Amino acid sequence: MTARIIDGKAIAAAVRAHVADEVARVQRAHAMTPGLAVVLVGSDPASEVYVRSKHKLTQAAGMASFEHVLPSDVGQDELLALIGRLNRDPLVHGILVQLPLPKSLDTESIINAIDPAKDVDGLHPNNAGRLAAGLPALSPCTPLGCIILTKSVHASLQGMNAIVIGRSNLVGRPLVQLLLNENATVTIAHSRSRDLAQLCARADLVYAAVGKPEMVRGDWIKPGATVIDVGINRLSGTDGKTRLVGDVAFQEASGVAGAITPVPGGVGQMTVACLLVNTLRAACAIHGLPPPEVQPLW
Ligand code: NDP
Repeated sequence: MTARIIDGKAIAAAVRAHVADEVARVQRAHAMTPGLAVVLVGSDPASEVYVRSKHKLTQAAGMASFEHVLPSDVGQDELLALIGRLNRDPLVHGILVQLPLPKSLDTESIINAIDPAKDVDGLHPNNAGRLAAGLPALSPCTPLGCIILTKSVHASLQGMNAIVIGRSNLVGRPLVQLLLNENATVTIAHSRSRDLAQLCARADLVYAAVGKPEMVRGDWIKPGATVIDVGINRLSGTDGKTRLVGDVAFQEASGVAGAITPVPGGVGQMTVACLLVNTLRAACAIHGLPPPEVQPLW
């Protein structure tokens, strides 16, 4: 069997187009332009690429984009002062601090300083707690992208057996909560889990968010299962060139799975698209407007 390839690039483009339509509608009806502020500390090349791409796609969706680039030796107080100003700025509806931050800064207190209503990365404990309690919340973008990709294959996830491998605050934990909201039956696995292959073998939905190249093998996958590969790993080939691979052995798994995301071209594209969804949602909530019509996307 050859798995259907889930085209994250096309689905992300559809989400962005839908958000852009909603932004235009909100602007017409309420004269309000959603605004996203991105804070980058230092000059990590990968982070710079992400921030540039976020800026371009935010503007393309018709939103205002504010970039704040600070030197890597910025003090904690100076960064907290900037977040305070962004929290009070009426033109800013979403605040994203690009992670990882330099080791000299206390990431937790920086995240905690963001107004939860503007926390479009969904990392503030208020949002994480609300999500865990089944309450409306801004949820982290990558897990939200995983749900949208899964729902491009299955209209309903109700009663399906899902396994999430990885329990980070950024991906694994919020993904479990979103899957519970979809009425899936969820197993969460991590570095201390036993018999991972056996746990995977009963899953209709497999989510790999580990950061270990091609760890999930084809013979772990239940025939016909849907596989969502969050991992982004750089592997050096014998030719000296590097290539991106996921946490799933794609060639093997695509011979068994019913549907699978490629790396690149799968989950990665969805993260920024969902950041735009969250910014639009935050802007509507802050202005007391009805939630934007983005839910039909998943
Ligand atoms: P973290 O390093 O924060 O978490 C990794 C998780 O994997 C941990 O919970 C860890 O368990 C678990 N783990 C590690 N080794 C094993 C193992 N051998 N068996 C089972 N579980 C294991 O990573 P992130 O969640 O931030 O990211 C995961 C991957 O997703 C990375 O490749 C990252 O680059 C990618 N990513 C991609 C994004 C995208 O946009 N596509 C966005 C964010 C991340 P324990 O808790 O026990 O240590």
